[in-house]
Amino acid sequence: MNKTKSINPYTGELLKEFDLLSEKVLNEKLQLSDQAYQDWKSVSFSEKAKLMKNAAKELKENKDFYAEIISLEMGKVIKESIAEVEKCAWVCEFYAENAEAFLKPDLIDLPDGKKAKVLHQPIGAVLAVMPWNFPFWQVFRFAAPTLMAGNTGLLKHASNVPQCALAIEEVFTKAGFPKGVFQTLLIDSKTTTQIINKSEIKAVTLTGSEKAGASVASEAGKNIKKSLLELGGSDPFIVTEDADIPTAAKTAAKARMINFGQSCIAAKRFIVHENVFEEFLEIFSTEIKNLKEGDSLSPDSDFACMARADLAEELYAQVQKSLEKGAKAILGGEKPKKDSAKFSPTILIDIPKDSPAYSEELFGPVAIVFKVKSDTEAVQIANDSEFGLGGSVWSKNQEKAEKIATQIETGAVFINSMVASNPHLPFGGIKKSGYGRELSRLGILEFVNAKTVYLG
Ligand code: NDP
Repeated sequence: MNKTKSINPYTGELLKEFDLLSEKVLNEKLQLSDQAYQDWKSVSFSEKAKLMKNAAKELKENKDFYAEIISLEMGKVIKESIAEVEKCAWVCEFYAENAEAFLKPDLIDLPDGKKAKVLHQPIGAVLAVMPWNFPFWQVFRFAAPTLMAGNTGLLKHASNVPQCALAIEEVFTKAGFPKGVFQTLLIDSKTTTQIINKSEIKAVTLTGSEKAGASVASEAGKNIKKSLLELGGSDPFIVTEDADIPTAAKTAAKARMINFGQSCIAAKRFIVHENVFEEFLEIFSTEIKNLKEGDSLSPDSDFACMARADLAEELYAQVQKSLEKGAKAILGGEKPKKDSAKFSPTILIDIPKDSPAYSEELFGPVAIVFKVKSDTEAVQIANDSEFGLGGSVWSKNQEKAEKIATQIETGAVFINSMVASNPHLPFGGIKKSGYGRELSRLGILEFVNAKTVYLG
């Protein structure tokens, strides 16, 4: 494949086609990234912050423009695309304001009266392999801390969002970042794995599927380069019998349906106490039924379609197999039309343990709801997953909710709230959801050299 296509998944229309980079141009870009790093690593925090704030300004002033590219290219409804662009501006401002303090040397007083310092120095070009689901946010979440640390960034974006990939490079250019500090590489996934051994690339971060993560991380491992993986999730949403059920159920619908379900931290497994199960299910399903389907560019639409027709087909195959195993659809469950990215929101109950719905990630608008007899059983089901990204616990008893939170095997738990990424909070998973942390101080520390200087 030497071209990449931008297709509107709602209409199926081919919007644009782009040539992939030739080997020669790709090598030139890698060299440019390294050259740019030699100067960028010594630029002051105040100068870097000024440019990062320019990027935030560019995003805010032109949010409708950027949001339209997102919606057209991957089917997210326009109100969610606007919110995504605004969130990118937030993360740029956050790291512009906090990077210097986050990277301040740590001072260590040794027991023998001597001292040492730990410096946090940049390492060079970091390659980011990014997905289509939040095509701006995932990239800015990586780029803001990475560039503020003094590294350069190389973006290999998902092949269905080349317009987003190029628009993001443009944001940094317009903000005044020196040439080569942030570059988009229009390359395919095979080439991506092949360039990890290049000397210019010092580390790699990937957000996406387990398969892509394993491939990129093993290549990085072979070349002794650091990797960070942010993979899938099958987040539990536990509703105990003393929860505020209307609020929990309405939030549950939002947590499942945001981005039409195509989010790693979407709540995917709803685990509800039997005493409140019927009430929860009634409100939850009504909320989902009331969502309005429509064109991704229409301000009234609550959902449009999935990002690609093949993703809708794969999701349906998981639903169909689960129904064959005995799961029951109380909403949706219909087969999508051939070559269409449209999908009926679906709710499944009575989930058998040997069905895909029980063990696999459902990356789209399909909710599964379990009925449990106790909090202990809720925690047992929550942890019976290969994934460990986020989780949500609902109870009016704070002490009980915190106790459950400590028992859940994930990188984050939100009490009486849906899981959401926030620049102030560490973000990342355990188990097959990946390793490493993005955002907060932990995020900026991932791609720096923590250098010990012993002050003899
Ligand atoms: P992928 O994981 O295939 O794509 C994510 C990124 O990885 C893309 O840039 C892709 O490039 C790249 N990639 C894929 N395979 C390789 C490889 N072997 N070497 C290097 N780079 C690679 O996601 P899909 O689009 O296929 O979606 C499939 C599933 O992945 C979803 O259903 C969901 O379960 C999960 N996913 C999780 C996300 C998350 O936020 N954690 C986001 C998106 C998907 P290219 O597009 O060129 O193949």
